[in-house]
Amino acid sequence: MDEMIQKAARDIKNARSVVALTGAGVSVESGIPPFRGKGGLWEKFDPMEIAHIDSFLANPEKVWRILVAEMKGIIDKAKPNDLHKGMAKLEETGNLSSIITQNVDGLHQAAGSKDVIEFHGTFAMQRCMECNKSIPTSEVSLEVIPPRCSCGGMLRPDCVFFGEMIPTDALWRSRDLSEQCDLMLVAGTSAVVEPAASMARIAKSSGAVVVEINMERTPLTGRVADYSLFGGAGMTMNRILAEMGL
Ligand code: NAD
Ligand code: ZN
Repeated sequence: MDEMIQKAARDIKNARSVVALTGAGVSVESGIPPFRGKGGLWEKFDPMEIAHIDSFLANPEKVWRILVAEMKGIIDKAKPNDLHKGMAKLEETGNLSSIITQNVDGLHQAAGSKDVIEFHGTFAMQRCMECNKSIPTSEVSLEVIPPRCSCGGMLRPDCVFFGEMIPTDALWRSRDLSEQCDLMLVAGTSAVVEPAASMARIAKSSGAVVVEINMERTPLTGRVADYSLFGGAGMTMNRILAEMGL
């Protein structure tokens, strides 16, 4: 493992353009449960029942109660961890150009990262399904569920449910970055949600080195990833930074 960390540090330092692809696993150490993997929400809920747009439209009250209201409490309290801070530091020192994140928790930005593509939107805002007005989630009261806009329309999180399109700008920019980078740092994603996971494959087929950080093997391990660093995201990031002298 030490040798792998040294290699990752060297490769990041030598790369011309490094892009990160992150998933729910990077926020686990901030107290936000992932979907899949150990302790994931899906040990308790059926994903298609709660995270699909059709379920939301069919029964918004149920989805608000079990997914959105639960997430709001957790995300409101969460603070960036060493992985988020480390990526912000890599950007600040010119060693990371952009982050493509599948997370909707805003923790990369809270840690100070500037160029963050929110591939699945954001939970920081709610959108009225009638008049399209945006309201910060922190200002939404949960006294009535589902919550309503002043126009009477129902609010929905400004994130991408299963069955919905990825915002076009996020998709195109992510593809460009994945094609152009020469190192992609993939952290805390099970790499099974498409089209996010394909960003790693695009990077690889465009000639980039793909380095993975995860607790477990993923479909990228041994195939798309040139090498995988197994361990907690924050600790692994700290070891890479130390090795880079940052
Ligand atoms: P996922 O839940 O499918 O997978 C999480 C991955 O993180 C697993 O591979 C797991 O082994 C790994 N992991 C768990 N703890 C880790 C740790 N401490 N260090 C390193 N790795 C760790 O996540 P996904 O691939 O991002 O897909 C889930 C979808 O759900 C995403 O599209 C995302 O939009 C959404 N989601 C977001 C949040 C969030 O914003 N924090 C939380 C849950 C789900
Ligand atoms: Zn409205």
